[in-house]
Amino acid sequence: MNDLSNIEVAGGCLNTPILKERGQREVFCGLTSIIWLHRKMQDAFFLVVGSRTCAHLLQSAAGVMIFAEPRFGTAILEEKDLAGMADAHEELDREVEKLLSRRPDIKQLFLVGSCPSEVIKLDLSRAAERLSRVYAPRVRVLNYSGSGIETTFTQGEDTCLASMVPVLEKTEERQLLMVGSLPDIVEDQFLKIFSELGIKNVKTLPARNKDETPSIGIKTSFALVQPFLGETAEALESRGLKRIEATFPFGEQGTTEWLKAIAKEFGVDDSTLQKIISGPRSRAEKALKQAKAILSGKSIFFFPDSQLEVPLARFLINECGMQAIEVGSPYVHKSLLNSDLSLIPPGPVISEGQDVDLQLERCRKAKPDITVCGLGLANPLEGEGLTTKWAIELVFTPVHGYEQAGDLASLFVRPLKRREALKL
Ligand code: SF4
Repeated sequence: MNDLSNIEVAGGCLNTPILKERGQREVFCGLTSIIWLHRKMQDAFFLVVGSRTCAHLLQSAAGVMIFAEPRFGTAILEEKDLAGMADAHEELDREVEKLLSRRPDIKQLFLVGSCPSEVIKLDLSRAAERLSRVYAPRVRVLNYSGSGIETTFTQGEDTCLASMVPVLEKTEERQLLMVGSLPDIVEDQFLKIFSELGIKNVKTLPARNKDETPSIGIKTSFALVQPFLGETAEALESRGLKRIEATFPFGEQGTTEWLKAIAKEFGVDDSTLQKIISGPRSRAEKALKQAKAILSGKSIFFFPDSQLEVPLARFLINECGMQAIEVGSPYVHKSLLNSDLSLIPPGPVISEGQDVDLQLERCRKAKPDITVCGLGLANPLEGEGLTTKWAIELVFTPVHGYEQAGDLASLFVRPLKRREALKL
């Protein structure tokens, strides 16, 4: 078994100056995260208060899925609603009443704000408070922003989870809180490992349904599973919770380091940890071998998109032998990414924010083997002969933990194979 802790990276990219750019950017808005959040929270409904553009975005993002009863929708505010905010509030109340009387299965309702100026003027937090009073205790009504002015597509999850923190009840119990929306199957794998480690009291945010909503307190330590949850982490810390600093659980190395930090926090000794993880760890290494043979030595360039870029670069460099040229991320939350940055060998440019034209220039010049970017950039870059990977797939596919390490690597193998096939 490789011992990656011996890799000599001397602080890695921890102190690499970050190239900060502020210009035109090409990223989906936070409404997109509703697609995976509604799958996770099985009794929640996401009511976007927005325009026809927002409704179209949701429809096309969810276009491949067929629902008998969808759990998201758009309350479209027309220009005429601008005439009076009182009317807009009444209109929203009517929409919510119609929805909740038709759908007794809904226990949590999120009012999701968007960009149009009429929506920005509408005070959704006041609306959520008012509606919470009307429908309590059957339905909890919260609000957050998914607006493209304020959020990139994964930040929608962050603003959603952060909106839940103030309403979580208080507990004095010692417990672990796993924070971030994971597919149930992946969440269950982690819960099984925690249970085998003897960490019994484990809760998740978000929970699968309202009745399982966690309580929190100063004896709760939390571990993030996604690097884009900065606002949620701050909100939890402000309620006295302790954040467990770790890499993010992508690949064998990331998962091992993440579990090590959690085990240490809960007083689990290293030999117990090694015993429990040795099976899944070697399965992950085995699964990575094939992908590594193809990815090793290939170069990669990340456009800022999902905020997963830094941990993914760490995974692809250290575990798949790739060379990162530029690792661009919409935001680099240094405090959350310390562990991952310190494991990336010095070399790549780490950039934050975007000036798309400048970055395109750098990318064309570098001619990477794979470019990770949003849908809007992928087609033109493919047309220019570059091989691309859509960043959005990385959040729609189960990629965390040991059992998914091979699948994560193969997401990067596929575009290379496709390009080879096209050449034949
Ligand atoms: Fe709606 Fe703004 Fe997102 Fe466009 S960017 S879909 S207007 S929230």
